Amino acid sequence: MKKMSLKWKITLWYAGILILLVTLLFGFLLSISGRLLRSESDLALKDAVWDFAGEAEVDRAHESWELDEDVRFYEKGVLFSLYDAQGNLLAGGVPDAFPKGTTLKAYAMQEIKDSAGKWTVYDVAIPCGGEKFLWARGVYEDETLTAMEQAMLHMLLVACPLLIAVALLVGYSITRGALLPIEELCRTAETIGEGKDLSLRIPTGHTQGELRQLADTFNHMFARLERAFERERQFTSDASHELRTPVSVIRSQAEYALLPDSEPEEKKEGLEIILKQAEGMSRLLSRLLLLARSDSARTRPAKEKFDISALALDVLEEMQNRTKERRTEFAADICPGLFICGDRESTARVFCNLLENAVQYGKENGRIILRVFPEQGMVNCQVEDNGIGIEPEHLDNIWNRFYRADTAHGSGNGNSGLGLAIVKSIVEQQGGTAEVRSRPGEGSCFTIRLPKADSAP
Ligand code: ADP
Repeated sequence: MKKMSLKWKITLWYAGILILLVTLLFGFLLSISGRLLRSESDLALKDAVWDFAGEAEVDRAHESWELDEDVRFYEKGVLFSLYDAQGNLLAGGVPDAFPKGTTLKAYAMQEIKDSAGKWTVYDVAIPCGGEKFLWARGVYEDETLTAMEQAMLHMLLVACPLLIAVALLVGYSITRGALLPIEELCRTAETIGEGKDLSLRIPTGHTQGELRQLADTFNHMFARLERAFERERQFTSDASHELRTPVSVIRSQAEYALLPDSEPEEKKEGLEIILKQAEGMSRLLSRLLLLARSDSARTRPAKEKFDISALALDVLEEMQNRTKERRTEFAADICPGLFICGDRESTARVFCNLLENAVQYGKENGRIILRVFPEQGMVNCQVEDNGIGIEPEHLDNIWNRFYRADTAHGSGNGNSGLGLAIVKSIVEQQGGTAEVRSRPGEGSCFTIRLPKADSAP
């Protein structure tokens, strides 16, 4: 039963229940009709015996009796007989197999049963004057009744296999029709599972109700899977593309430096280029690793409660020290003592990436403001610069991996187009949001909102 398909299981259950119901119905009909027939024939027997008793003309004065000449001892299945008070047969008779010496019981319907058959008997006492009386008896053989019951049983026996066949056939075709979308669903899921065609969807044209809901759910899941696979594929191809350029630069510089006639000065210059490319690659690799980690649900960092105001100030000061030569003016408008629940190191990476971008895409002697303040149960952090700004058509895409709106600051500067993708991934992982407002030529303001934790630990 375990290995039987759902289709057959439902069909067998359906057929079984149908057969049980029909058998019960048949049984019920059989017993009702039997009872009705019995009570009808009992009534007819009673009437017939009374009629027969009426045929005996009794002379009470002389205590004698006489039967009509045209009396009939058999009528409509009933055999009549007449007995004296001692039970001696005077006229008529009983069926051959009828047991001898059965008690004569006036006005009571008796059922006599033995191995030879089954009879219904009714007796009437006819007073003949004085102490004398006669017995009139009617015996009705229950043969017709049993024959009827047998006919019904035979009918059931013939109907049963027919019923089983029809129930199986109809049940199977109904179940097959109902389960067709599920089969389709399995086939599509299998094809997708084998990686054959991710664009396949389950056809929902004629499907209704719960199965439609199931098919829609699966189709949404397939669409999400397809998008995820496409992102993954894009990410891998972009990452290998980004790594290919520095590797080929390193290779050509190394080959050039190894030439026997290259000057020591040229060798030094080549090595410096190699070092710069290697540093860029190492930065890119650590960013790729970070993104890969944040993509994997299994390596979610442990959450801790920490002072985000203090963290923002620390990162700002460090950035100020690192970028002294650009003479950028840093301003902080930080509401102290704000706490969030999350990963401290990742949150520092968010501030760092936003401030690095603000410096990089800001003006020489430009101005950067870092704001941190509470807002409707969230901590709102803004990094605003008065730099080159972003054209409106790029605004939606700058959060995508490897997307660079400003091609002037090419990948040669270590810009991989991953900084903002990392920011978004970390912020969303901590239940927050990230957005940007920008005017080309005037500057940009990046805003992140993170859920605020109650108070200091
Ligand atoms: P990148 O490594 O290129 O800086 P990011 O993901 O950090 O990658 O940024 C994506 C793109 O968004 C950048 O190429 C740049 O064009 C734009 N961008 C990011 N921050 C700023 C900013 N503060 N001002 C202007 N443009 C910015």
